[in-house]
Amino acid sequence: MKDFEKMTAPRGNINAESWFIESYRRHQGHPIKILISLYKGNYHKFVLAVITFFIKHSCVWVLPIVTANIINDVTTSNPNTIRNIIFYVVLESALILINIPMNYLYTSYKSLATRYVETGLRKALVRKLQQLSISYHVETQSGRLQSKIMRDVEAVETLSTQMFLSILNIALNIGVALVVTGTKSKTVLVFFLFAAPVAAITMVSFRNVMRKSNTEFRKEMEETSARVMEMVELVPVTRAHALEDEEVQKISAQLFAVAEKGYRLDVVQALFGSVGWAIFQLFQVVCLAFTGYLAIAGSIQVGDITLYQSYFATVVNQVSAIVTLLPIITKGIESVNSIGEVLLSEDVEKNEGKEQLTDVNGVFDFKNVCFHYKNNTNLVLDHLNLQVKQGETIAFVGESGAGKSTILNMVIGFHMAGEGAVLLDGHDISKVDLRTYRKHLAVVPQTSILFSGTIRENITYGCPNVTEEQLAEVVRAANLTDMVANFPQGLDTMVGEHGGKLSGGQRQRISIARALIRNPKIIVLDEATSALDSISERMIQQAIGNLIKDRTTFIVAHRLSTIRDADKIAVIAGGKCVEYGTYEELMERKGEFYHMKMIQNN
Ligand code: ADP
Repeated sequence: MKDFEKMTAPRGNINAESWFIESYRRHQGHPIKILISLYKGNYHKFVLAVITFFIKHSCVWVLPIVTANIINDVTTSNPNTIRNIIFYVVLESALILINIPMNYLYTSYKSLATRYVETGLRKALVRKLQQLSISYHVETQSGRLQSKIMRDVEAVETLSTQMFLSILNIALNIGVALVVTGTKSKTVLVFFLFAAPVAAITMVSFRNVMRKSNTEFRKEMEETSARVMEMVELVPVTRAHALEDEEVQKISAQLFAVAEKGYRLDVVQALFGSVGWAIFQLFQVVCLAFTGYLAIAGSIQVGDITLYQSYFATVVNQVSAIVTLLPIITKGIESVNSIGEVLLSEDVEKNEGKEQLTDVNGVFDFKNVCFHYKNNTNLVLDHLNLQVKQGETIAFVGESGAGKSTILNMVIGFHMAGEGAVLLDGHDISKVDLRTYRKHLAVVPQTSILFSGTIRENITYGCPNVTEEQLAEVVRAANLTDMVANFPQGLDTMVGEHGGKLSGGQRQRISIARALIRNPKIIVLDEATSALDSISERMIQQAIGNLIKDRTTFIVAHRLSTIRDADKIAVIAGGKCVEYGTYEELMERKGEFYHMKMIQNN
């Protein structure tokens, strides 16, 4: 892989990722300029690609000339005919054989350059996604971002190939055909200039009709596959309600709809395909008649008829290739812009130059914190005040939408106070390099996110130098020992394979183990709301107990046991802390918390 990286490396001291962002910034609003700029350091590869293309393709251009010359020699009884034929045959054979290495070189140069830009763009996008603020990610559907990294970059790659190479190829093809024709006969050249575009445009307009019915068919096909997937997912429900026949009927109606579109597509393709083909052939016949007439009139040689036949076909095909290219170019330009939206987004977490923390105690002070989300001016946190001592566990309770998760996200540094400040050990968190702070923080989200890999990899995520003893200790503290012992491959069991079999509780404990292994000073824990059986409940509770011991902990609590064990409870309502104290204090006070508990108990 390293070798390939070297092969694609650009000339000069260019760092692809930062140069790509710079290109976008410099040429904002000019997608073609951006695209050309992305290839800086690779232009020589394009020059080499063009040269090798010219050599590789020359056999195609030379063949009509060779054929015409041989016919001319034969028909004019040239005494050197045999010698000439041998020369032409050797020449053409050599050109044909040279095509093989040249085609290899051409593809290699072209591919190295375009793959470099493709990979560079993807890398730049991936890095940018890791820098963009969490609010950006929340607001943007993950599917759209994925599609930018994969599909848009692919469209840009296609655009580059088309722009730099297809257009050049087309120009060379048309150029050679017209120059050779022009030097031989001005009359035929004029005929080409008028007839070829007319032929090409008529052909392409018929082809577009075919494309339209193709799109309709594809859409219907996508719809069908979505319906089939839905049906498969619904099988247990369908069967439980004895609705099998209805489902089969529904799907077969859809299948017939697809079949009908497919039939129409076949027929339309047959019709318009043959119309397009016939137009092309008719123009060829017209060309033949015209050049035949010129030969009879003596203005061209007999053999040149075949030469013009070939070149006319080349010109018509190349002009129609230009027309076909247009939609690809439009799509590519849209993709260049779409990638730019992400690469130039300012909504990033800025850490450079901020205060770096080497150690963290975990003392928090929320001072008159106000916060609202970008898309809504309503205050989600309204002058919130809270003090949390080192090693203390604070449980947040309150109705859904009260602002509890928002507070947790402020502790992580995903959101910053609009007014007021969140102080960590006396430092304003908005002035701290969050990456240094987060080394001392572990987050256990409400839904445990496990990636495909082993249980071991999931636990040691981001901690490469963990000893077996440390791991065993963490597995024990997270109450995972029995579960791991039950798998034949123990910690090396793939989560993907058993992902479906891991229960919600087991996944949560893996998530807790992942937090424990970091040995953090601060824990942010969003308790899962789903009810578990009492054994799982107790196992998780013990694991949480081990996790939060002696660490500053923020919990959105749903379990009574967590709430009871917390050092302090903060009741959040309307973005404010309306009650604060120990469980006993709040129960005695008979306020908001007491009422919440009474309602739950009933
Ligand atoms: P809780 O965790 O207590 O249920 P949240 O902190 O999730 O409450 O939400 C507090 C308020 O902020 C709610 O009114 C919610 O609709 C709003 N909110 C949460 N996330 C966003 C977001 N990304 N954009 C806009 N509003 C949001």
